[in-house]
Amino acid sequence: MLSANLPGVAHGRDHGAREGVLTHEMARLDSALSPLIGSAAKHLRDARGVITVGDLLRFLPTRYLSYDSDATQLHEGEFVVLIGTVVTAVTRRMTSRRGSMLTAVLSDGHQEIDMTFFNSRAHENKLHPGVRVIAGGQVGRYNRRWQLAHPGYTLLDDAATAALPGLYPVYPSVPKLHNWNLVQALGLVLGALDEIPDPLPQHLRERHGLPDVGTTLRMLHRPESRAQVALARDRLRYEEALVLQVVLAQRRAKRAQEEAALHVPGGGPLLAAFDDRLSFSLTDGQVAVCDEIQADLAGPAPMNRLLQGEVGAGKTVVALRAMLSTVDAGAQAALLAPTEVLAAQHHRSISALLGDLGESGYLGGSDLGTRIALLTGSQGSAQRRRALADVVSGDAGIVIGTHALLQEQVAFYNLGMVVIDEQHRFGVEQRDSLRGKAHSAPHVLVMTATPIPRTIAMTVFGDMETSTLSELPGGRSGISTFVVDEHRPGWLARTWARLGEECRTGRQAYVVCPRIGPGSGGEEGVDADLFADDPTDPDAGAARPEMMGVLQTYEELISDPSLTGLRIAVLHGKLPADDKDAVMRDFAHGRIDILVATTVIEVGVDVGNATMMIVRDADRFGISQLHQLRGRVGRGEHAGLCLLTTRAGPGAAAERLAAVAATTDGFELAQLDVRQRREGDVLGARQSGGRGRLQFLSLLHDEEVIATARVDAGELVAKDPSMGRHPLLAAAIETWLQPEQAEFLEKG
Ligand code: ADP
Ligand code: MG
Repeated sequence: MLSANLPGVAHGRDHGAREGVLTHEMARLDSALSPLIGSAAKHLRDARGVITVGDLLRFLPTRYLSYDSDATQLHEGEFVVLIGTVVTAVTRRMTSRRGSMLTAVLSDGHQEIDMTFFNSRAHENKLHPGVRVIAGGQVGRYNRRWQLAHPGYTLLDDAATAALPGLYPVYPSVPKLHNWNLVQALGLVLGALDEIPDPLPQHLRERHGLPDVGTTLRMLHRPESRAQVALARDRLRYEEALVLQVVLAQRRAKRAQEEAALHVPGGGPLLAAFDDRLSFSLTDGQVAVCDEIQADLAGPAPMNRLLQGEVGAGKTVVALRAMLSTVDAGAQAALLAPTEVLAAQHHRSISALLGDLGESGYLGGSDLGTRIALLTGSQGSAQRRRALADVVSGDAGIVIGTHALLQEQVAFYNLGMVVIDEQHRFGVEQRDSLRGKAHSAPHVLVMTATPIPRTIAMTVFGDMETSTLSELPGGRSGISTFVVDEHRPGWLARTWARLGEECRTGRQAYVVCPRIGPGSGGEEGVDADLFADDPTDPDAGAARPEMMGVLQTYEELISDPSLTGLRIAVLHGKLPADDKDAVMRDFAHGRIDILVATTVIEVGVDVGNATMMIVRDADRFGISQLHQLRGRVGRGEHAGLCLLTTRAGPGAAAERLAAVAATTDGFELAQLDVRQRREGDVLGARQSGGRGRLQFLSLLHDEEVIATARVDAGELVAKDPSMGRHPLLAAAIETWLQPEQAEFLEKG
């Protein structure tokens, strides 16, 4: 073992090592390797957080150079490592100042780069034409030639540590270290280790033809061929997938053993009364999903189900039927919505659907019925007190709210089921906090209108069962979408004229802007970060005009002659809650023609008479978000029209808008969206910095690996739920489950 060869390694044991497991990996570099690699340990730690020998082994090359030369793309300002031959070496007297300059031209067989040194005889003596060198430095451009000023280099034939068989690894750059310092450090570590314990069970390695961990790391740090690098990466990718899937399989197994707080037999009187009065019949899809949910509710373990379905697919009725069953079984159901507007709307539409069934205890209420409480952050205190009283007494069988529901003062009489609408806006702490309000594990139904690609369904939502509503209820007239380039003369005026025409036929419209007013950021509380310049946006960096605001657009509309006489109002998150409610109510009742709003209307808002949507600076929104937004119109008998206005020229943003205009298939758009974003964004972890959590596995692209690992993990957990027979795998899982990783897994 390493400890036998390297002084000081025993001091490394305090780094959280389990006895006998991974001990060498825990050895701190500065104590274990310091005598051999000197100050490299300090630089590695400071710049890259590489602290232990294990960290160093996993500090992997990003590229490999062939000795028979590969063309390396040169970019000004970048750090580069090159292998090549010195073709000429000339020393010149300087004209402008004293001294001389050596220019050694290095060729890698494809291109030339000048290595320049001032006043250095030592270099002249080494860099003769014909010698092969590995050089590293920052690429510059001078007199239209590539240049490395005072690069570090080593001669291939004199440095035993540099001339490796096969490929030459290039590591991520570490300030103050040359690439060959890293090559050398890894050479020392690999040479000193006899055997590295492997977290992957042998039978799985054999099943998939993957190398053991020691071989894998050697293949990455000392590869003989590109094929070896690929195989080694396959192995690490699979390992990550397996760890992830074992975590999920363990979660599923644990849930399956939990005792549900409530057994809901189904077929109760409140649900029957509701079904009787429902003015439409459920689609086959809705019936099937209702059956799946009912089976969960009647089963021994708590339900943990994800309900996917396009905007307008009719998820709310499905959820409401489950909530009524819960009330029939003597418990309460909570519906958690991401915004006040949406909570209020759920309250209105569920009250309307239930009619007197939702007014028990009030004059005219049904005896069979229950009560519906609404709890939001900004409601008046009298209202709130009444709602809280209904929640704690159990008089309210259905409790609807925003995250205000999660506050400590909110006590439920007997919470049996939790429905979470548009889950991607809720973090795990919030979900858990609501779960914690039940005496024992409540049933959980999560609803989302954002189609989830299969790879994400198998990972981020991998511990849930899923149901999908794939057809829309009949009577929808569809929606057409067009892109409006505001720079084209007259196009914007034509847009407002079209808006006027639409509203004069008695229809209503939304005009959505990316922010409230000048100087404001994005809409607060509604994914404001979506409006930040997306660092992955290829257009970012180019100067972009200030985003259109709601207030500015409102001014524009009220003074536009083609809109004279139409009733125009604004809605955004900074309005007091009562005003928001009043505006939404007025709009729902047709007392407002045009609603100028931020994305507060994005999710779930349902006004059948609204047929037109204009999104300003549409290029500032993501694909899925635009799709959600336009789902607000064309919900009734009249066809919808969506105009996406933009001031962005041709480019990625324009292509995105064209894609949204070209299809209404939410799933296709979600795939496209996902392809354009980074993993972290997809997983809601945009802000997370630091080292990547998944280094090799792509949650977007590695569908096959993920599916394979999912099967393997299921088998492992079935035989050995706690991984007692696989202590190294258990340790890898534990590492993976450090708090931030757990959060990553849980956040949708
Ligand atoms: P979402 O899935 O977006 O939450 P909703 O549940 O809000 O969709 O449903 C959209 C509209 O369709 C609502 O007005 C709802 O009452 C109506 N609806 C739901 N199911 C049906 C159905 N089977 N037939 C006709 N209309 C339906
Ligand atoms: Mg909805």
